[in-house]
Amino acid sequence: MAAHTDPLIALAGVTKRYNVGRPNEAEVLHGIDLTLARGEFAALIGPSGSGKSTLLNIIGLLERLSGGSYRIDGEDTAALDDAALTQRRATTLGFVFQFHHLLPAFSALENVTLPALMREGRVSAARLAHARAVLDAVGLGAAMHKRPGELSGGMQQRVAIARAVVLQPPLVLADEPTGNLDTASADEVFALLRQMHAQLQTSFLVVTHDPRLAARCDRTITLVDGRIASDARTAPPGAG
Ligand code: ADP
Repeated sequence: MAAHTDPLIALAGVTKRYNVGRPNEAEVLHGIDLTLARGEFAALIGPSGSGKSTLLNIIGLLERLSGGSYRIDGEDTAALDDAALTQRRATTLGFVFQFHHLLPAFSALENVTLPALMREGRVSAARLAHARAVLDAVGLGAAMHKRPGELSGGMQQRVAIARAVVLQPPLVLADEPTGNLDTASADEVFALLRQMHAQLQTSFLVVTHDPRLAARCDRTITLVDGRIASDARTAPPGAG
């Protein structure tokens, strides 16, 4: 049972090797120590190839670590089999990707009810009402019956954010959530992430290559060559 004082996530000495046992075996994360508290809003930045996506996939329970330990909500992930990992993902994590990954044949509303369908096997009336309310909150109340292909890129990301937060997971992981958008849409989508954070107290870990966006996070973790090169509180706006 997780004590409430446990960090939300705690990685200690985490390594990741790809192509183990083959000539092209390579270690891409070299001993990552990282904790994230409940309610934090952090950026993960670093050059291309530094290991950001790999680290996010490990934290998101999409990839297994090669060494070290990873505890989520006090639970050691090494003890979890694939079914338990899937369950953990469904109860604890929301995901936003660079490309929205919405199902094209389904409406915005149907896409936002998917997490409930996956977690609970059905969409209750209460879940449906809540999905509508979240779509309203992200400014898409009038577009909830449209399919992704009928929406702009920024609107599609709004639907993806609604889907990520609809079950109020303790942690949302976002991999370049604005990477596919023009500057104005990126600013709006980022503002929406901050708004959701303020409303829900969900933790956010946002991979971005955009220093402007990192500056609007509360903490900036910088990865270089598979190691954490710096980890610092971001100066609050107006502090210099
Ligand atoms: P970033 O997100 O910072 O660009 P990645 O985590 O995607 O970095 O990649 C880190 C390193 O791991 C890169 O050298 C990349 O080529 C390698 N890598 C990533 N995924 C795989 C994979 N599935 N198999 C082999 N190597 C991989």
